[in-house]
Amino acid sequence: MALYIRTNGRGNAWPVPLGKKHPFYDKNNFEDIANASFSIIQSPDKSTIEKELLIDAGHGAIQYLIRHGNRIPDAVFLTHPHIDHTLSIDWIVQSNWRQSGKKFPVYASPLCWEQTLSNFPQIAHMVEFKPLLPAKSVQISEFDGIQVRFYPVFHGESAAGAGMLLFEYLNKKMLFTGDILLPLLRKTDFEYLQNCDVLYTDANNRYPYPNSNHWSILRPELIDEKPSKFLNDWLKSKGNKFNWLIRPNLPLKFNKTIHGYFNKFLEEAYSGNELSLSVFDFSKQINAKKVFLVHYSGGEDFKHYGKEIFNATELQNFVDTKAKQSGLNTKFVVPEVGNWEFIY
Ligand SMILES: [Zn+2]
Ligand SMILES: [Zn+2]
Repeated sequence: MALYIRTNGRGNAWPVPLGKKHPFYDKNNFEDIANASFSIIQSPDKSTIEKELLIDAGHGAIQYLIRHGNRIPDAVFLTHPHIDHTLSIDWIVQSNWRQSGKKFPVYASPLCWEQTLSNFPQIAHMVEFKPLLPAKSVQISEFDGIQVRFYPVFHGESAAGAGMLLFEYLNKKMLFTGDILLPLLRKTDFEYLQNCDVLYTDANNRYPYPNSNHWSILRPELIDEKPSKFLNDWLKSKGNKFNWLIRPNLPLKFNKTIHGYFNKFLEEAYSGNELSLSVFDFSKQINAKKVFLVHYSGGEDFKHYGKEIFNATELQNFVDTKAKQSGLNTKFVVPEVGNWEFIY
């Protein structure tokens, strides 16, 4: 039995705004305009699904699941509570409840789940909530042999409890950052993430525009272009305000694990540890073998840098060229929807 990651959707929040076109997304293909979502699947042949863990469930995820296998996943994992990552949760949970009368397992950080529930209060009693705490490994009871770990990230004030999800299966490491401006990792976490096999990450924009609350694929310095004024201004005004950056991940009520994690994080952050500011920086820091770029918009590149918005081939060529130029060995992929990545 093999393990795969399937790309169920690759879009940002509004891949094709109503009344517009977008060169990256085929507006006639509804699967192509779905929000970023992935499945970790155990399957003998890529046509039957034995086990499935769904990571994020925004617009289009439910349609994808119905069309491909029409099977309720074994559990859902949320990176953060934004609607483009959670909208399908109601449909999934209701389907399960009406057929089995059982609670459906949802894994997320407590703050992420709290905010998600405020959008979908009707499903509270139909869900078995499984809390994810910073850097704590959780055995997934619905899928033998897989563990998950949550690592907090900063993705703006409105993304309570946002984080990346590391899945481990035998010796394989699969990391999904969700939407991210900055990982909030301690030194020991960077060490733990070393040699990550696959990284699925936020490629909202090529060049830095921190006000979008997304990081960028690169920093201009890495390819010998002049540093970004937007990034430098942000670093000066907010980039060293770590108390502010961790706030969306801090519950009011004291939690030993969460507050302990951030105590250590702050201790290290204030001693001048380098921040991880782009996909290229992070890929290098964790020595990622293969990186999948999703959630592309390009809107900020166009608006603030006067750079064209790419189609998928252009984005692939761009990242290949720039990775080489900045001396990165990582393989970058702009996946198509329906891509099955063999893991084990
Ligand atoms: Zn998003
Ligand atoms: Zn988001």
